[in-house]
Amino acid sequence: MDVFKTIKAMQQYSMEQKRNGKTVAVVPTMGFLHDGHMSLIDLARKNADVVVVTVFVNPTQFGPNEDFAQYPRDFEHDRRLCEEHGVQAIFAPEPKEMYPADCSTWVTEEKLSRGLCAKTRPTHFRGVATVVTKLFHAVLPDVAVFGQKDAQQALILGRMIRDLNFPIRMIVGPIVREADGLALSSRNKYLSAEDRSRAPAISHSLAAAQARMASFPDTDPAELRERIVAEITGSGGRIDYVEVLDAATLESPEVKTTRLIIAVAVYYGATRLIDNVLIDMVGKQ
Ligand code: AMP
Repeated sequence: MDVFKTIKAMQQYSMEQKRNGKTVAVVPTMGFLHDGHMSLIDLARKNADVVVVTVFVNPTQFGPNEDFAQYPRDFEHDRRLCEEHGVQAIFAPEPKEMYPADCSTWVTEEKLSRGLCAKTRPTHFRGVATVVTKLFHAVLPDVAVFGQKDAQQALILGRMIRDLNFPIRMIVGPIVREADGLALSSRNKYLSAEDRSRAPAISHSLAAAQARMASFPDTDPAELRERIVAEITGSGGRIDYVEVLDAATLESPEVKTTRLIIAVAVYYGATRLIDNVLIDMVGKQ
């Protein structure tokens, strides 16, 4: 397995793969890899000849008071997992390789990036869209794999790929969960033992909402929301948002909505966790 630190070396590697008739998939990550990332890597392997994992804690997607400096990092652990999962190359640049000191160009998506996480993290998606664009230009992938865990991010990047004509097929992998339902996240490591035992209220309340919609499809979104808020608050979580939206537009559901998303962001202590479920409405209107 190769590890590249420079954009130029990464590009040369990918161009050579393509000259040899191979397709390339990229799995962008911030490292501290877990089974959620691994599921995306396995999906990438099924959809391309060569898998490149990027490991880069991207400073521009963190706000001034967020956890950029503390974000967990363990490159040797990441390297070993990638090797075990048949990854051909890791792209792990330093921030100065990705961002020249006087860089002044940004990629912004302007519709899907307004609500949900953008309310508390107003520059987050600009940082994500910009870094993913730069990673695409470094890795030159045919396929890019992202997780449904970050549902708003996946929608924004899908829109960006379409709007900016990237010749890239995007695949979104399902959320991987712990046995008790908690969505895997590099940030789960921040949770105290007590908060870790309480946090499954998030996925439990979302699963209950999904089950309720399966039995009572006419349930008012406001009622669904209230039930989720009550369960999470009862467990000691502090709600950032709980929203029931059209899964394609992230707008309020309409009669023509075919799929709902219930998206949540919750603090346990200082740790902010996100999760979501999709609910198909086809045939239920
Ligand atoms: P991150 O390293 O947190 O930036 O995540 C890198 C990629 O892994 C993103 O596309 C995430 O959506 C995805 N991911 C993170 N957690 C999970 C999970 N529990 N299940 C599936 N994908 C995930």
